[in-house]
Amino acid sequence: MEEGSSGMGVETKPGNELQPLSPPQLNGSDQDALLSQVEDELNERGFVVANVDKVVNWARTGSMWPMTFGLACCAVEMIHAYMSRYDLDRFGVVPRPSPRQSDVIIVAGTLTNKMAPAFRKVYDQMAEPRWVISMGSCANGGGYYHYSYAVVRGCDRVVPVDIYVPGCPPTAEALLYGILQLQKKIRRTGTLFR
Ligand code: SF4
Repeated sequence: MEEGSSGMGVETKPGNELQPLSPPQLNGSDQDALLSQVEDELNERGFVVANVDKVVNWARTGSMWPMTFGLACCAVEMIHAYMSRYDLDRFGVVPRPSPRQSDVIIVAGTLTNKMAPAFRKVYDQMAEPRWVISMGSCANGGGYYHYSYAVVRGCDRVVPVDIYVPGCPPTAEALLYGILQLQKKIRRTGTLFR
């Protein structure tokens, strides 16, 4: 990170730097301090200097829209994660009904051979950069149905997977953790290109 820049990539006054935290790790007072610094900069100079890739990654990780792709029982836990107790909206994670509007696809359930071509087609319709979360034993490797003639032994045989969430089913907390890990991964590998 450049000297004199905050985790958001916002340049700060010399000797007045914030700790280099990335936005989702900021607590309330850090965020207030960052915002007041940005405001000071704007009042003083009339503009703010930021690293474009950091701002883009901040926007990306704060607005991941998953394609809804519930295939079996795991989908129920995915739905729990969207409901008020865990409230994925807080992280900017809002389910979309169209691959054209989605950045990430959560494969929640058993992928059958019959469904696999449709799954691949949905994935192909998502714009880059796109990410895949494989949720549960079935999506990770076939699970209970590993030896079934009708089931794909892991959705990574059909698309590249970024995050595997283990469990049968994984809890809503586990999915939430997986999403946070994906945010970290995007920030770590984050450039304008994937
Ligand atoms: S991993 Fe378990 S809960 Fe999830 S779809 Fe497979 S059988 Fe159902």
